[in-house]
Amino acid sequence: MDEFSFIDSIKQSYYKQAALKRGIGDDAAVFHIDEDIVAATDTFVEDIHFSRSTMQPFHIGYRALAANISDMAAMGARPMFYLVSIVIPTKWPMEEISAIFSGMDAIASQYQMDLIGGDTVSGKELAISITVIGSVPDNRARYRHDAKSGDIVFVTGTLGDSQAGLYLLSKENASVFKDADYFILRHRMPAPRVEFSLGLQKLNRVSLNDVSDGIANEANEIAEASSKAIVLYDDLIPIHSSLQQFPKEHQFQWKYFGGEDFELIGTVPEKDWPLVQEIADNTKTKVTKIGMVFESEEPRVYYIKNNKKQKLYKHGYKHLK
Ligand code: ADP
Ligand code: MG
Repeated sequence: MDEFSFIDSIKQSYYKQAALKRGIGDDAAVFHIDEDIVAATDTFVEDIHFSRSTMQPFHIGYRALAANISDMAAMGARPMFYLVSIVIPTKWPMEEISAIFSGMDAIASQYQMDLIGGDTVSGKELAISITVIGSVPDNRARYRHDAKSGDIVFVTGTLGDSQAGLYLLSKENASVFKDADYFILRHRMPAPRVEFSLGLQKLNRVSLNDVSDGIANEANEIAEASSKAIVLYDDLIPIHSSLQQFPKEHQFQWKYFGGEDFELIGTVPEKDWPLVQEIADNTKTKVTKIGMVFESEEPRVYYIKNNKKQKLYKHGYKHLK
């Protein structure tokens, strides 16, 4: 398949978003939106961000776009469009490249997102760069710097599942573990919390971040951006009941530093907490209060375990130290 028939094969036959005037086929895409526009991009390189030993091509595409959609959720935005730049090594069969795009299309369809452009080149290693575009009403974009003292800290879903899935994918005997399929699915096909995030538009003030590197990292980012201290209560951090079958050190590592769960962590005024729980119910999202925000000279995150307060440092994976 040459570049042109490939582009033809990924071109949508119709546009899902009414705002789109022109998608793939011209030198650039054209759309018209009356709200604030939110844009983010992420790059995934083979053997650094994903490996063919743990992911099928479909999952590589699905997960890469899920990570980008999660950034939209973290900003309070509705995802609408995406562009894909891909570096294709000659050793990769075109059917597998098509499967990567099928994976992206599968999750894009859940949100009526349109693929509106990109770039296709050949190179040594497979690399996928996705740009996602969304929109949010005026004054409803969610930032990390909006935490205030007295806020409740919450997180959606359960933490550590994705890392448990990755661990199981490295095991020959994964099937002897309880809920192995669940953990592996959470790793390969994460579910960004878009509906819950859009539900939060009822609130005037929310600070928000998505869990891509682990809550230790994400909570520190909120604390730093807001110049506040955050205290987390270890026994409130939500984990899946079957996570308890793994060694205690693994559980601790995965829930604080594992990341890639693509859940949301945020803070809201205490008076709004009942509303947050109602929004969670309406969007079938699990939400858990895990801590509080305090005034502080220095931004810090602590966790309280066995009545002992300890500092929680960022130990997430870093590309550039
Ligand atoms: P140009 O030469 O004008 O940059 P291209 O020939 O690279 O355009 O691409 C033609 C059309 O196909 C453009 O609309 C571009 O956005 C789209 N396109 C190219 N590669 C991809 C891709 N990997 N994913 C989505 N759209 C793509
Ligand atoms: Mg051109």
